[in-house]
Amino acid sequence: MQIGVDLGGTKIEAIALDATGRELARRRVATPRAYAATIAAIEALVTQLEAATGQRGTVGVGIPGNVMPDTGLVKNANSAWLIGQPLGADLAALLQREVRLANDANCFALSEATDGAAAGADVVFGVIMGTGVGGGIVVHGRGFSGRNLIAGEWGHNPLPWPHPDEMPGPACYCGKHGCIESWISGPAVAADHQRVTGQALATPDIIAASEAGDDHALATRARFIGRSARSLATIINVLDPDIIVLGGGLSNVPRIADDIAAQLPAWVFSDRVQTSIVRNRHGDSSGVRGAAWLWPAS
Ligand SMILES: [Zn+2]
Repeated sequence: MQIGVDLGGTKIEAIALDATGRELARRRVATPRAYAATIAAIEALVTQLEAATGQRGTVGVGIPGNVMPDTGLVKNANSAWLIGQPLGADLAALLQREVRLANDANCFALSEATDGAAAGADVVFGVIMGTGVGGGIVVHGRGFSGRNLIAGEWGHNPLPWPHPDEMPGPACYCGKHGCIESWISGPAVAADHQRVTGQALATPDIIAASEAGDDHALATRARFIGRSARSLATIINVLDPDIIVLGGGLSNVPRIADDIAAQLPAWVFSDRVQTSIVRNRHGDSSGVRGAAWLWPAS
């Protein structure tokens, strides 16, 4: 049995899968905003899943950050109380077994590559387009994290081929201007709509208005699709994955995969673009399922 834990900013979700990927049990709790309570909550969830199934499981945990391989300490987490903590070692001691940790975007990509929309593909780029913009790479069924643990982190590259009115671009929290995340995240799309139209609308409402034929919303949506296509074209130009799986809230925009794919030939350095662009299969469960697959089915 594989247990996956998705340690999110608002909730911790845990799932137990059998070797075929069937869900045996699932539990969730609100995320405590303190370190000791967080590891205690993860231990309690694992204990509950093992009591519910009557089995002992392997444990993988997806985190909103990374673990430095030399020190085992958490870095780059947007849940500040995790930063600098030996999360893997502490969980291993509590749970009496080795625990694997990975970035949540890498878990998303691993889930979709294992038994989701990218099952069977050799090189997978999994994209998170939500509150933030992240990504993960899976090669031959294994997550690829890179020397600096930033493989696939495309959100803080600059928007490619910017139009004059896209320079220097919005200020980003990372300290630079015009980052991809500052153009195509959920909040960024709403900010773009407000800059151009003066209307303050949430992104889901903008998308709904575009489906109803509203001209301003259609224009905002077209800018979002065009910027996403330009940004993904640079991923294809470097990594050349077999498939790109879209995840996060904006992957629910109707027809987004086909609309992005239609624009790629203008930007990809190839006379043909054979990369598949698809929506995810497991939706909100991808993070927790990918954490479970950090240990292969036995
Ligand atoms: Zn940035």
